[in-house]
Amino acid sequence: MTLTTIEGADEAQWVLCQGCTTPLYRKRWTRGLKVCPECGNHARLTAPERLAQLFDPGALELLTIPAVTEDVLGFVDTVPYPTRLADARARTGLDEAVVCARGAIGGHPVVVAAMDFRFMAGSLGVGVGQLVTLAAETALVEQVPLLIVTSSGGARMQEGPLSLMQMARTSAALGQLDEAGLLTISLITDPTYGGVAASFATLADVIVAEPGARLGFAGRRVIEQTIHQVLPERFQTAEFLLERGFVDLVVPRDRLRAELSRLLAAAAPGPHGELPDRPTDPRVSDPGLLPEADPWEQVRLARRLDRPTTLDYLAMAFTDFQELHGDRLGGDCPAVVGGTARLVGRPVMVIGHQKGHTAAELNQRSFGMPGPDGYRKAARLMRLAEKLRLPVVTLVDTPGAYPGADAEERGQAVAIAENLRLMAGLEVPVVSVIIGEGGSGGALALAVANRVLIFGNGVYSVISPEGCAAILWKDPAAAPRAAAALSGSARDLLRLGIVDGVIPEPEGGTGADPLRAADRLRAALVTAVDELSRMSPRALVTDRRERFRGFGTALTVETGLRSERQGVS
Ligand SMILES: [Zn+2]
Repeated sequence: MTLTTIEGADEAQWVLCQGCTTPLYRKRWTRGLKVCPECGNHARLTAPERLAQLFDPGALELLTIPAVTEDVLGFVDTVPYPTRLADARARTGLDEAVVCARGAIGGHPVVVAAMDFRFMAGSLGVGVGQLVTLAAETALVEQVPLLIVTSSGGARMQEGPLSLMQMARTSAALGQLDEAGLLTISLITDPTYGGVAASFATLADVIVAEPGARLGFAGRRVIEQTIHQVLPERFQTAEFLLERGFVDLVVPRDRLRAELSRLLAAAAPGPHGELPDRPTDPRVSDPGLLPEADPWEQVRLARRLDRPTTLDYLAMAFTDFQELHGDRLGGDCPAVVGGTARLVGRPVMVIGHQKGHTAAELNQRSFGMPGPDGYRKAARLMRLAEKLRLPVVTLVDTPGAYPGADAEERGQAVAIAENLRLMAGLEVPVVSVIIGEGGSGGALALAVANRVLIFGNGVYSVISPEGCAAILWKDPAAAPRAAAALSGSARDLLRLGIVDGVIPEPEGGTGADPLRAADRLRAALVTAVDELSRMSPRALVTDRRERFRGFGTALTVETGLRSERQGVS
């Protein structure tokens, strides 16, 4: 990955790209952050170079933490460990394979620990563990986010079992930041392997990777030699891992500052309820004020392809959307999108089903029908929102959960059930809006909220009218009758208390005037989030549990047992 100078030529002026062997003019290449303009190869950076590229000019202050590395084991391979250490120190000018600093990115304060591969291949030993742990503890004391830039071949064998313990030591330190509600970000650079990959590199709230960076526990050579497996070319690259839900974002070096700044902003305290122009609350809460609509017609309107999708609303009703990817378990479902955004200045976590407007988009998004990886991605983002104390907004628009063998094999029912329980217990405000079709458990898995709203032409139902007709009428043509019987229209839902308010649609529906629809959505959300933000974390949980406890009967264990005793006596 490092660039070599051209032999004989003016060595100082030219470098050869290791990706495509194109000779590059050194000054221009350095100005381009050491990314090859021909093939996009991201050359390895030293820790000082990395810090200089990422931080606001003048904002960097190195943390003076003494390196504690010692030769505890008296380790000798071809060279004694102290000689290797002395050599690494002389070559790099560093004490250890990490440099820690405090500073700011885009004006947002952050503590950083940046690894340097030149220093004994970025190996994780006591010194590195110490520095990463102290960087985390500094972030904790100063109540600022932590950024870790990783580059490592794995554990430092020269320190034996003490090096192994650094994985647990650093992981515990990151756990403390989770408890304190402080954002952690890792920036994965090539290569990140072994003990570093299996500790602080992948425990961060948000995992950002440079293009082509490799991340894994066992490296390619180990796998090929021990298991004799044939591995694909892209194996363990950032792009490969993004598709499998282990990386949130792959960001080219020239966009890193902007993207990291946006992420840090999401965790920064925002304005709370101090709006210059408070919008009028558009919600209708009296079913008598809503027109009587034909239920089947309403189903057809709710499914119209011109209706704005979650991503459309994210572009129109919110600002600064930063999509995050992956369930960290092996998947990144395209039918669910989510990430941080701002709602009239206030940081929020937005999660929604994603359909599309064309056949190609619908295909790419599984028609808005999530698999378990979609629900687990949503769960991960909701837990992150709770950690960062961000209100959760969900936008519901799905025919239902994906009905496929693959989804069943990966635990569709478990994923939905776990979301229902998770959402009920979230200690932050939760507002859900059914923007189109609310199909069954696949919709409810994103809709256990303090306030549930629906657009005027939206529907929310236990099963699709077609499915109900096929099962109960044994005739798919009975769908219109089933639609009427299922009571899924906005008016019915409001009457039953399933939704708390209806957002009236513009003339011709949300698809006819998306901007106006987005304005109303924003106004309804701002009002609801403001109301809820005045409640304590425990009160929010109680409110949500009671809301759903109330469906069916007011009977409690206490009243139920009393009436039973009365019946017996
Ligand atoms: Zn190149």
